Amino acid sequence: MLDLTDINVIRDVMSRFGKKFAKSLGQNFLTSAETIENIVEMSDIDEDTFVLEIGPGIGVLTQSLAAHAKKVVSVEIDKNLLPVLDYTLADCDNVTVINEDIMKTDIPQLCKKYFGGKKAKVVANLPYYITTHIIMKLIEYKEYFSSVTVMVQKEVAERMSAKEGKKDFGAFTVAVQYYCRAEILLNVPPEYFVPAPKVSSAVIRLDILEKPSVSTQDEQLYFKVVRASFANRRKTLVNSLSGANIGFGKDLVLSALNALGLKADIRA
Ligand code: SAM
Repeated sequence: MLDLTDINVIRDVMSRFGKKFAKSLGQNFLTSAETIENIVEMSDIDEDTFVLEIGPGIGVLTQSLAAHAKKVVSVEIDKNLLPVLDYTLADCDNVTVINEDIMKTDIPQLCKKYFGGKKAKVVANLPYYITTHIIMKLIEYKEYFSSVTVMVQKEVAERMSAKEGKKDFGAFTVAVQYYCRAEILLNVPPEYFVPAPKVSSAVIRLDILEKPSVSTQDEQLYFKVVRASFANRRKTLVNSLSGANIGFGKDLVLSALNALGLKADIRA
């Protein structure tokens, strides 16, 4: 098996196929064998596990996932990487590469087709330009997954795992933590990638909860309230919610705050 963490091997493989790193697709490939080992270990994969990988790149994480899992399906948007992956994954007969934009992938169909309806684990080094959209899509189809272990920009990992009252706690945090338990597992410096990204990274694991962490009577209204509350963090909740077109007048918000023992000028 090719050592795809070796920068010389990466350069060789890329030049063999005339492939350049596509910055616009977030192509920063991992070169740390230790980090890959940690990701695979912390995502708790064994020979019965079905894995969905998003963005295999040249297949460095894929190789390791394939060695531990039952089946790996890797969705890669860049068609120029297909011949590369054919080459680097030639020995991995439990991997299927699908050339698709994950944002357009029919997740239920993919999971039924390749995983027979059994819950899969998502493991990936995500492209940073659409991380939050991918996370929200995975959450939308949470019934198909038991966990999501992903490398993301450190700041995004901190937003997902933020505690209430902290600066980076916002609507995205609430959405993630409503459905998942979030834990940052590893911090990863830029020099562990080629080319090195401008930002630091972190591996976060989201365990999908059996039932949401908060009990709501009307989930849609709950998320409207959350979004409106955090839309302008400098506004008081009374002003944010009464001006949000969700049918809440100032008096209603004030009496709700009062019933909760919260100050009338509190912010989200
Ligand atoms: N897994 C490899 C690694 O760890 O070295 C590559 C990770 S790289 C950060 C992100 C990968 O996602 C790239 O291969 C990129 O082409 C791919 N990608 C970008 N946008 C995508 C999308 N919308 N759907 C699927 N793959 C995408």
